[in-house]
Amino acid sequence: MTERFIFSKRCWINGALQPATIVMRDGIIRDIIFDKTEGAEDYEDLVIMPGAIDAHVHINEPGRTEWEGFDTATKAAAAGGITSIVDMPLNSSPVTTNLESLRIKQQASFGKMHVHVGFYGGLIPGNLEDLPALIDHGILGIKCFMVHSGIDEFPNVSIEDIDAAMPLLAAAGIPLLAHAEWIREPATCRLNEEPSSYREYLASRPDVWETDAIRILVELCRKHRCRVHIVHVSSMYSLPIIRDAKREGLPITAETCPHYIYFNAEEIPDAQPLFKCAPPVRTKAHAKALKQALMDGTLDFIASDHSPAPPQIKKLDSGNLRDAWGGISGLQVLLPVSWTALKANMELSEFIPLLTGKPAQFLGLHQTKGQITKGYDADLVIWDPGQEFTLHTTELCHRHSACPYTGRKLSGFVKETILRGGTIFHHQHIQTKHSGQWLKRP
Ligand SMILES: [Zn+2]
Repeated sequence: MTERFIFSKRCWINGALQPATIVMRDGIIRDIIFDKTEGAEDYEDLVIMPGAIDAHVHINEPGRTEWEGFDTATKAAAAGGITSIVDMPLNSSPVTTNLESLRIKQQASFGKMHVHVGFYGGLIPGNLEDLPALIDHGILGIKCFMVHSGIDEFPNVSIEDIDAAMPLLAAAGIPLLAHAEWIREPATCRLNEEPSSYREYLASRPDVWETDAIRILVELCRKHRCRVHIVHVSSMYSLPIIRDAKREGLPITAETCPHYIYFNAEEIPDAQPLFKCAPPVRTKAHAKALKQALMDGTLDFIASDHSPAPPQIKKLDSGNLRDAWGGISGLQVLLPVSWTALKANMELSEFIPLLTGKPAQFLGLHQTKGQITKGYDADLVIWDPGQEFTLHTTELCHRHSACPYTGRKLSGFVKETILRGGTIFHHQHIQTKHSGQWLKRP
């Protein structure tokens, strides 16, 4: 295969943006020359960085492919500069809770991967014996819910279930990803009386559910020294608990999502289930604290938690927030929405690792992905952080076009996405299909 040379004045190498020519061959970065070489494709001052890694995506195929599928999700990822995604064990059917269901999911993804795809397994009551086989087959983590997951096939676990699973996961070095909401007491709200009120929806899932869950997880983490990852942190009150656990040296990591830092409850209109997710988007003060936590390392990275549903299940007509599916559609815009939310707070050099090196480290893929280094995989995104654009429905590759970011002015335009050295997205179109591979734990 011929070598490809690309040059920019702003390549993300060794923790700095600097002029370099990146030499790629056979899917691998073969060399880095800190100069412009003759014949290199010249990207001038566009940023060239490792392809973004989205460690939290719900693809839903097989079984709920009409919600989202591998073909559409990985096209959206490619169009968004994301070269690796990790699929959650729900809401597909079957859910990924044993080896057979993992095989069914892998089969469903075969021939439809336009970017790389990894898988998590699920912990549900009674499937402890199925975890070793999932771990042996390269899953990147085990996910559990501490509250009803939204689908009955994936029941939530008890403290005893987590306690029983942790020794096994700790021995394997596999993280337990937890949806952290724990109901000690039912919420006080009037959502039944006012099902389209965002204020009542917010009150229906209070902060204390999240903080109680995280406290339980920290205690179990301390007992078993099992890696624990808190998905989609939404509340500022969770941050001191995570910060203290990290200071104590516990193996705990945490993510937040673009919607928790871009939106705020004060601006979310009533009867708009597009904005419904669980836990809910909270007030401005929370968004501000979450941004700060991304800067000081309390939160490790950003993931989309892309979890769309068809319009009728999302209750877009009735605006009923009580009955609507809870999940935000936003995979394709992970990069620009995150940058738009954070650019006033941080430099590119602080921002880039949140979507590249840090999720790679969490997933155990940091020996091959998340950096532009000789010998690493040639998965790259070329983008312009300064270019603003308005998001139009027609540009979205998701299975369903409804997206809360439509019509918004965003910063950070993805020009080109490169997978294994080849261009997969350029000039706002998918260029090459099916070059994604399965991501497995090394
Ligand atoms: Zn999720």
